[in-house]
Amino acid sequence: MDCLFCKIAAGEIPSTKVYEDDICLAFNDIEPQAPVHILIIPKVHIASAAEINEQNSAAVAHIFEVAAKIAAEKGFADGFRIVSNCGDSAGQSVKHLHFHLMSGREFGWPAG
Ligand code: 5GP
Ligand code: ZN
Repeated sequence: MDCLFCKIAAGEIPSTKVYEDDICLAFNDIEPQAPVHILIIPKVHIASAAEINEQNSAAVAHIFEVAAKIAAEKGFADGFRIVSNCGDSAGQSVKHLHFHLMSGREFGWPAG
């Protein structure tokens, strides 16, 4: 499958790794939208949040545990935002499930 994030997960395309285990990989976004902008992906291919189901949701729960761990370790004292864009109208440009973990500035709501 020609999937950018599968290739990053496999180490075929380099990334700036923040955290890695058997289930997920966290790496810096190439085009950061905040002083801290990390992407956390499952190593298995899940196309988007719309594809989360009973079989694969443990990886998603694990990703949120990892996000909390990264936030604690990096000291996101002022808070952080976790976003997953799902589908074209929501602006999902890479069709492999990923969670944007952002911190270091004020965030608007619902966008920005
Ligand atoms: P989406 O637009 O699907 O919500 O998020 C995709 C994210 O992946 C974007 O924030 C984009 O900057 C990031 N991205 C796209 N290609 C690469 C890449 O090759 N390396 C890294 N580190 N990030 C990428
Ligand atoms: Zn993939």
